[in-house]
Amino acid sequence: MILVSACLIGLKCRYDGTNALCRELMDKLKNEKFLPVCPEQLGGLSTPRPPVVIVGGDGFDVLKLKARVVNEKGQDVTFNFLKGAKKTLEMAETFGVTHCYLKEKSPSCGVNLIYTDQGLTSGVGVTTALLLKNGYKVIGIQPGETDLENLQCVMR
Ligand code: SF4
Repeated sequence: MILVSACLIGLKCRYDGTNALCRELMDKLKNEKFLPVCPEQLGGLSTPRPPVVIVGGDGFDVLKLKARVVNEKGQDVTFNFLKGAKKTLEMAETFGVTHCYLKEKSPSCGVNLIYTDQGLTSGVGVTTALLLKNGYKVIGIQPGETDLENLQCVMR
């Protein structure tokens, strides 16, 4: 079973109510079993919702409670991000996930790039950090920029 960021397969779950459909990924998944998840919705956030940044580090730092997730209204939504990450991990365990395709540049799902209070920065999102900590292989997908023949895999 492959875990996939739900926005990548066309679900309109992004903060602004849009999707991030990646047709190349859909082609790649057409004969696979896959599990779409949106950690931010699983964490109880609505769609649409205010955009957020990670303040003070990346997803690993949020897991250690050394960084926070804050939306553009100044509201601290760290709890929602931690809850969504935990629920995503539970689903990965329940469904026997082998690897994950996750949406780049997201404070939840980013694999190589995330938005922080410093702008677009190297680092992982909160859900990605928890999946990596638990031994899952994660692959970052950025629609329109991704060469699916040469996917960059991050294994830690
Ligand atoms: S990047 Fe992740 S958290 Fe953001 S909308 Fe897509 S699935 Fe949801």
